[in-house]
Amino acid sequence: MKYDFELEKICKILNKKKYKKIMVQIPEGLKIYHEKIVGKIEGETDAVVILSGAPCYGACDIVENDADFLVHVGHSMITEPNIPYFFAECRSNIDVLKVVEKSAEYLEKDVGIITTIQHVHKINEMKNILEKKEKNVFVGKGGKRIRYPGQVLGCDFSSALSIINKVDCYLYVGTGNFHPLGVSIATKKKVIVADPYSNEIRDIEELKEKILRQRHAAIEKAKQGERFGIIVGEKIGQKRLGIAEKMKNMLEKNNKKSCLISLNEIKPEYLSYLNYDCFVCTACPRIAIDDYLRYEKPMLTPVEIEIALGKRRFEDYVFDEIKDEEKRT
Ligand code: SF4
Repeated sequence: MKYDFELEKICKILNKKKYKKIMVQIPEGLKIYHEKIVGKIEGETDAVVILSGAPCYGACDIVENDADFLVHVGHSMITEPNIPYFFAECRSNIDVLKVVEKSAEYLEKDVGIITTIQHVHKINEMKNILEKKEKNVFVGKGGKRIRYPGQVLGCDFSSALSIINKVDCYLYVGTGNFHPLGVSIATKKKVIVADPYSNEIRDIEELKEKILRQRHAAIEKAKQGERFGIIVGEKIGQKRLGIAEKMKNMLEKNNKKSCLISLNEIKPEYLSYLNYDCFVCTACPRIAIDDYLRYEKPMLTPVEIEIALGKRRFEDYVFDEIKDEEKRT
């Protein structure tokens, strides 16, 4: 296995406290390992194991049902569950140092390292390698939703922002584009991606320009809208009623009609019956960006609605983030 699922530790906890009904949540990318995880727990304990079949994109999404223990795989905890729990963070054992070393020639002198939970345990080794290449390396500390130095989430770039005045560029170690794009837009600094799985180095700049053009077009469309559906997430870590109410007030002050719409899974088919000109997603900030093309009507983030209503300049565009201090209920 490429990941450490900490199954021995989990079974030990379950046996010690004699938990009987275990809910297991696994993100889509790791669900291929579900038989191994469920099989091990069933084989080593007396508990009944229920695998949550619902998609799970982050630790913002907690499923408890009637279980007496939750095993949540692949993420670090954001919101504490109501039942006893174990977050198996799934550290990857893939070699990241080769690609970090290779990235050095693309980096400026003062570098901030950012990564996902899968590689945070290697951050000191990454730092050492770059220091040997005569870089000044910084690792930032995030807000309350971030558990490890240098860690970023798709909705929280606080660790990168905490070192913004010390660095000329960032190195993102991991797969995917969303996190480095968000950091690049939030900090306005160069971000280089070092992908340990493909061994590829890339600059995010070109993609950033493309996404900004796409977002600009969505905002322009929203400016023509009269009726807005404001989506409020039902998942515990995505519930942002405070922001949703702020959006509603802002729209109404601008003579726009709006309705708060509560959803757990946000899918195009659920919105197709609701006749709005535009939707505002206050749940997971990735939905409006990643899934934009799947929706018939423009889907905007709260930041983008502020721009559409003239409350913020497009030059100050950032990806939406879920802040520690937000009113959530
Ligand atoms: S809200 Fe979205 S980006 Fe944030 S942790 Fe959840 S799934 Fe990830």
